[in-house]
Amino acid sequence: MSKSAEKKKKQTTWALSDDVKAIVAELIQKLPEFKFIDPNDIACMFKDSSNSTWRAQVSKVRPSDYLLLSGTWLLKIAAWKDWWDGASKAHKYLAMFHELKHIKKAPDKSTDKYALRKHDIEDWHQILVNAGIDWENADWVFKYMDRPPEQEVSK
Ligand SMILES: [Zn+2]
Repeated sequence: MSKSAEKKKKQTTWALSDDVKAIVAELIQKLPEFKFIDPNDIACMFKDSSNSTWRAQVSKVRPSDYLLLSGTWLLKIAAWKDWWDGASKAHKYLAMFHELKHIKKAPDKSTDKYALRKHDIEDWHQILVNAGIDWENADWVFKYMDRPPEQEVSK
């Protein structure tokens, strides 16, 4: 048997994930900056594949997301299952925090509820300054989530 045949590639599959949803919902519930987001608008999913160019990704639900068309989701947050299964709790929370930071309110004249933005330098700054680059062990996100309301950063 050839090497390539032994290393059988698994077919890419997508499925709704309660694990992803739990973390996304908790972040939205605890952090005022995400108050405008309705967790029910987000389809939380696993991408199960041999390889992935990303670990987590947020996107708008499009007609090509046939699996989601029966629902009322507007956005999709997907995590690559192989990464997720080996990641620490802190890393998962930080990754979902980061993905949620991509979501903003759509402009008033838009018919959409949400818009997506590219990486915001201030968001990266907030995460990098506080959590560093080693997300595996960065428990900053838990302190940030659970801080008392009076320590809110003013806008
Ligand atoms: Zn990003």
